[in-house]
Amino acid sequence: TEVTDALLYLDGVTVSFDGFKALNTLSFVVAPGEMRAVIGPNGAGKTTMMDVITGKTRPDQGTALFRGSADLTKLDEAEIATLGIGRKFQKPTVFEMHSVTDNLLLALKGDRAPRRVLFARETLSERARIDEILETVRLSAVRRRLAGELSHGQKQWLEIGMLLAQEPELLLVDEPVAGMTDAETADTADLLRRINQTRTVVVVEHDMTFVRALDVKVTVLHEGSVLAEGSLDHVSADPRVVEVYLGR
Ligand code: ADP
Repeated sequence: TEVTDALLYLDGVTVSFDGFKALNTLSFVVAPGEMRAVIGPNGAGKTTMMDVITGKTRPDQGTALFRGSADLTKLDEAEIATLGIGRKFQKPTVFEMHSVTDNLLLALKGDRAPRRVLFARETLSERARIDEILETVRLSAVRRRLAGELSHGQKQWLEIGMLLAQEPELLLVDEPVAGMTDAETADTADLLRRINQTRTVVVVEHDMTFVRALDVKVTVLHEGSVLAEGSLDHVSADPRVVEVYLGR
C-alpha cells in the first residue's frame, strides 16, 4: 500500500538465527510525524526489529525502506544514522565526567574525542542549539552539573537530548522508562510528545502506564510478527493479545 507515503516501511521481513525466526514476515509501517508504541512479550522480536531498522542486523528476506526510497537492508549503521534515524538504547551512555552542556556539545560536534571538542568550545549557533535542547529535555537548571551527578531519569533525558543534537527525522527509543520513578515516567511521556511535534518516534516499552500515557497507536509483536495493531484499548481487548500476555 502506502510505500511512498510511509516514513518507515517494513514488509515481509524475516530474520533467522540458526533456523529460528526472530522476525517472521514482519510488516511495520510508520507514517511521517507519527509516534508509535511497540509492545510484546520477551523474545517477541522488538530488539531485532530495531536492529533491522538501524542496519545492525540484515534480514534474510523482506523490504525495509526509509522515506520510500532508502533501502535499509543495503546500508550500514553509519549510513543509516546519516539518513536521519537515531536510536536510544535502554541504558544511558553519557560522558559522566563532563557537564550536561558539554555532553550536548560533544553530541552536536558528532565527535568522540572530548578533549579536542571541548578545547575548541562552542560557536554561537551551537550555544543556541544547546539552549534549545536543554529546554526540550527540561535540563536547563542542571546544565552545569556533571552528567555523572544526574538522577537516572535525568541521564536518560540527557541522552535523548544528545540524540536530538543529531537532528534525526526518526527517533527509535528502547524502553526509556525502565528504572524510572512514576514522576519521571510521566515526564518522559511528556518529553516524547514534545519531541513528536517535530519528529517521528517509535518507542519500545513494557510499562503499560507509560504506553497509556503516550496515547498513540500500538503495535503488538509476538513470535516475530504483528499480532495486533491499534489503540491500546483496542489491542488489550483482543483475546489473542490477552493470551500472549497472561498465558505464560
Ligand atoms: P525482544 O526484544 O522482543 O525481547 P528479541 O528481538 O531480542 O526480542 O529476540 C527475539 C528472539 O530472537 C528471541 O527468542 C531471542 O532469543 C532470539 N535472538 C535474538 N538475537 C539473537 C541472536 N543474535 N542469536 C540467536 N538468537 C537471537
